[in-house]
Amino acid sequence: MFFHVILTGECNSECRYCFGEAMEDTDDDFSGFEVDYSLPRKMSYDVGLLDRFCKQDSECVLTFYGGEPLLCMDEIKQIMDTVKAKHFMIQTNGLLLDRLEPEYVNRFHTLLVSIDGDEALTDYYRGKGAFRKVIDNLKLIMQNGFSGELIARMTVMEQTDIYKQVTWLLDNGEFSFSSIHWQLNAGFWKNDFERRDFKKWSEENYNPGIRKLVKFWADCMENGVVLKLYPILGVAQSLLCGEEKSFLRCGGGWINYAIQTDGHIIICPTMWGMKDHYLGHISNADPLKLRKVFVGKPCTECDVLSICGGRCLYANITKRWDAGAYDLVCKTVKNLVHVIAEEIPRIMTLIETGRINLRDFEFMKYNGCEIIP
Ligand code: SF4
Ligand code: SF4
Repeated sequence: MFFHVILTGECNSECRYCFGEAMEDTDDDFSGFEVDYSLPRKMSYDVGLLDRFCKQDSECVLTFYGGEPLLCMDEIKQIMDTVKAKHFMIQTNGLLLDRLEPEYVNRFHTLLVSIDGDEALTDYYRGKGAFRKVIDNLKLIMQNGFSGELIARMTVMEQTDIYKQVTWLLDNGEFSFSSIHWQLNAGFWKNDFERRDFKKWSEENYNPGIRKLVKFWADCMENGVVLKLYPILGVAQSLLCGEEKSFLRCGGGWINYAIQTDGHIIICPTMWGMKDHYLGHISNADPLKLRKVFVGKPCTECDVLSICGGRCLYANITKRWDAGAYDLVCKTVKNLVHVIAEEIPRIMTLIETGRINLRDFEFMKYNGCEIIP
């Protein structure tokens, strides 16, 4: 099992799509959901409890998460010194990575760092200077011997040209990434759709950009390279392996849960404080027997559910965007699946002729990449 360990709700960054949206959505009262707004600001349970909980599952993987988890460096070290997890991973904005000693950084199996593309775009979304600090820190951890998987985690919305930014991250003079994932900022806030231009952008920019990117990705295979572009890789692997049904690909609610700062277990980090969806507490729950929660309508009536998996349980349960708006998100999913499916015959030929291998498509699932953006 995989668990996000939410170390704090606090963050040292004020990104447009998170802090900025929260400021605009001040009347977003989550009516209809009982929310605990008084959760401890930092992890408040005994680390021994987490160790006992984790020990019950020999495959237990812990991902440090926040807010910004590196604001809780002492807790990270304490957990890594105490808990016998199979792997530790972290999702971070990267701003404080230089402050965690290499002996801990180098133990991360996977490190997901928030970066949205080139300097201009990253600083536009994340604040002036964010790009430079993150890049400097990444260079430093590589010099200090980090050899785990480093994944660039992009948040994508109207100012993003997906083809331009992904290809920039893959190959640039600053710091090139070999693993990239992106998630659409779509369906997570209540009132943002009206003030944004998601329809025009998704139809005229994002969907065509994905078409171009998938073709580029398949072209690279002609030279024997299968790039780790997670949304494309994950879907393609399912199609190539003839997988019959995919559950929610982030793992939320069935294999990848989250642990709040008070020790309660929740479906996923975004559902923090939503009391109706608490699944137990680490003091007495069995990690292997947690209740499973799956997506409901409209996903259950969708003709691409078996390949999409439902995109996001949080969006499915809370329905922050109305059906018409969310349908535009589903159109991006269908476009992604469709353009990848079109490339499958070419990819099969490349596998049959030995140019690439089916094993090149393997990756660690539930590593924080939701696959469906
Ligand atoms: S495309 Fe949309 S409706 Fe269909 S399964 Fe995915 S998220 Fe659900
Ligand atoms: S995709 Fe949705 S359900 Fe999955 S982890 Fe993200 S917010 Fe949670």
